[in-house]
Amino acid sequence: MLETLRETFRARYGRDPELVARAPGRVNLIGEHTDYNEGLVLPCAIDRATFVAAAGRSDGRVRVVSEGYADAAEFTAAAPVRRGDWVDYVAGPFFAFAERGLAAPGLDLAIASDVPRGAGLSSSAALAVAVACALREGSGQALSARDLAELAHRAETGFVGVPCGVMDQMASALGEPDAALRIDCRTLATETVPIAGGDAALLVVHSGVHRRLAAGGYAQRVAECRAALAQARAAGVAPRARALRDLSPADLPALERALEPVPFRRARHVITENARVDRFAGALRAGDLPAAGALLREAMASLRDDYAVSTRELDALCAAGDGTPGCYGSRLTGAGWGGCTLHLVRSDAAERVAESVGAAFERAFGRRPEAWRVRPSSGVRILPGGPEDVRRRSTPL
Ligand code: ADP
Ligand code: MG
Repeated sequence: MLETLRETFRARYGRDPELVARAPGRVNLIGEHTDYNEGLVLPCAIDRATFVAAAGRSDGRVRVVSEGYADAAEFTAAAPVRRGDWVDYVAGPFFAFAERGLAAPGLDLAIASDVPRGAGLSSSAALAVAVACALREGSGQALSARDLAELAHRAETGFVGVPCGVMDQMASALGEPDAALRIDCRTLATETVPIAGGDAALLVVHSGVHRRLAAGGYAQRVAECRAALAQARAAGVAPRARALRDLSPADLPALERALEPVPFRRARHVITENARVDRFAGALRAGDLPAAGALLREAMASLRDDYAVSTRELDALCAAGDGTPGCYGSRLTGAGWGGCTLHLVRSDAAERVAESVGAAFERAFGRRPEAWRVRPSSGVRILPGGPEDVRRRSTPL
């Protein structure tokens, strides 16, 4: 892919790129709908990435092409204008630079990616983080990986207009090989959680259902969590809580008495899910994959029954996974209402589980779901400019 990208760049712009930035997609292992409750999440960067080849221009203009998109685009680095299409994910980091008072240079850009788009593996964060990284190199600014995550996040919320949390960009910027990243969404403190036990493999299966209902349902869940918190405070269960993250499973009996049934179930998901993140991290560190798998199954039950964000397709994928030998546990990953499931499997069983989940889904829904085995991988990187460097560094990443 890298060689093709370089050739595209040469054919398009008549010169070599000066550098290639690479930023991965991500999958969230556990900690779903906890981010906007100021809680914990545990994503990892994956071995599918977006590559942005770049070379500086002296006129402050940006030109960009992306594999798979016929249209080339052009905008002004210092003042990009929103278009309502894919180019916004490229222009967004330029907007975020300008907003922070950083000078954004003109660049020629060419993009290639093997992160599936719109599948829940965060191709959008991979793209925005890679562009932010190319921009950092082009501008000579001293920015950390964490800064790149924040700039890319700002690109999505402030320019593209997606009200997402910062998890995707943090995972894409800060991921490490064979590890997950624990993020405290209140403080944005991060901690690397090594995945012990060389035996674990991650399988992601796409239900093929695009999250049409997600926008309305998501806003409703955010409101229900706010209502639960307000009722809990008013009833004196948690008078000083700032967010549901400040409650613990020990508060559940009192909450059940104080809250209406629906806000109670939403709160119970958030509170138990938050606790599951650290239990899951502990199981990973100990290499206890059966315990980790059991927590995924618990998380799935909670997302389905208490948070009500699953679908028949996601239920079926998880049930098929959990019924296959070699699968430790399954859950929907991402906000729900469609998107993907995640299966923690024994590595020698990965193909068997994928086959069995695919066949069960096909029997029920008449089509084969797409499935990917993903490996926890490193976050954003610059591959140096020369063709030799790029070739040498491209394989082990
Ligand atoms: P996800 O992040 O789950 O893949 P999103 O809907 O958030 O899904 O982002 C997908 C969008 O991001 C695409 O529709 C496109 O606009 C943009 N995008 C992602 N990757 C690329 C790419 N390689 N080239 C151009 N645009 C891309
Ligand atoms: Mg996205």
